[in-house]
Amino acid sequence: MRKLCCCGQNLNLGFRLVIFEDKFQVDRVPILECEECNYYEVLPSFKEDVIDLLRQLKDQGESVRVYFTEMNELADVLYGLSPQADKLDPSAFEALLEYSCNERINLLLDLYGCAQKMEDSAWMNEISARLAPLSKFVKKNQSLSAK
Ligand SMILES: [Zn+2]
Repeated sequence: MRKLCCCGQNLNLGFRLVIFEDKFQVDRVPILECEECNYYEVLPSFKEDVIDLLRQLKDQGESVRVYFTEMNELADVLYGLSPQADKLDPSAFEALLEYSCNERINLLLDLYGCAQKMEDSAWMNEISARLAPLSKFVKKNQSLSAK
């Protein structure tokens, strides 16, 4: 997760409000930021999802404010762990993140079992969508900074 800024400083994990076309607001977007030069970038592994979400908001056309962490389960897990990011070394933090993702996956799979028993297909679809970014992350076992 540790990545360097062009000025040589470590980039730190943070969350930021991103405003798009003065109208669409997405809060709690995971970013890497530099304290020295105010540089920041969306965490590479979330870039596509953020762009997708902005596109959806634009299609809906209304000016809204949403939380990225409510749209993306991996971002939500990461948000919960973010106070630990500066305290742990990068590999320990990645390990904690993977552990927490697996915990969240198990929880969602339990819910999925309930939804299945109730034959509630809308709920099943919703849970599948929530599972997707988590399983993708765990399967790839990728670093968050990787493209
Ligand atoms: Zn910098």
